[in-house]
Amino acid sequence: MPELPEVETVKRTLNALVAGKTIEQVQVKLARIIQKPDDIRRFEVLLQGQTIRSIERRGKFLRFILDDYVLVSHLRMEGRYGLYDAADPAELHTHVFFRFTDGKELRYKDVRQFGTMHLFPQGEDLRAKPLGKLGLEPLDDDFTLEAFTAIIGGRKTKIKPLLLNQEYVVGIGNIYVDESLFLAGIHPEREASSLSSDELERLHEAIVRTLRDSVEVGGSSIKSYVNGQGEIGLFQHQLAIYGRQSQPCRTCGGEIVKTVVGGRGTHTCPVCQPFPGAATAKKSRR
Ligand SMILES: [Zn+2]
Repeated sequence: MPELPEVETVKRTLNALVAGKTIEQVQVKLARIIQKPDDIRRFEVLLQGQTIRSIERRGKFLRFILDDYVLVSHLRMEGRYGLYDAADPAELHTHVFFRFTDGKELRYKDVRQFGTMHLFPQGEDLRAKPLGKLGLEPLDDDFTLEAFTAIIGGRKTKIKPLLLNQEYVVGIGNIYVDESLFLAGIHPEREASSLSSDELERLHEAIVRTLRDSVEVGGSSIKSYVNGQGEIGLFQHQLAIYGRQSQPCRTCGGEIVKTVVGGRGTHTCPVCQPFPGAATAKKSRR
């Protein structure tokens, strides 16, 4: 599933490709993608004649800012946007077509069909589901150490599932949570309330650095995001610990272990991220 850096890069790519274009016609082939309004015909009609002013991001959601509406789009597992000529044949699993007045067409393809779109009148999307209860944006100026400590600090929950909860901090998924905890030297099963102020500061810094570095890498490779078919791809960033189980830690040379924490595959260096109870953690079967 794409996390903040990938969605941010898709957002920037979309801004370069479709901002300023006016929608002539919309066609929805799979009703379940459209969560709001209930009537997909209404979704199609409301978007006609709307110009895309810009594309913004909230957490892992894309926000298409139109003249009168905001289209909120979540890619979930496999959602992809691509820009094509309207005359190009459609690929399999293409579910939503946004045809522009200049003959181009933005297409939404989703093999797993888990992606969602919600259409709101301008000004209503940030207060309603699915964006309404989202937490702090880790790359915004108001993501201060104080704000982070206030929302995470005293909680009697393991730190990893807490960071994955989008009601506290948005945009961090299973990859970047493992990367951030490793960089901060904090074991994922530590209770949040057990973290010292030094550790909270390291974790706060690690989250910002991990996400910012990944966004920069993605941004610098923006051209490779659009493949020969016009599809906007998801760049796989260089990762320090995620997916490196049984390989040597780049900091200490020790072996990276994979366990399950809160139901999620979790990568830890037992030396760099010490925790007395780690030996009892369930070994992943993979
Ligand atoms: Zn290590």
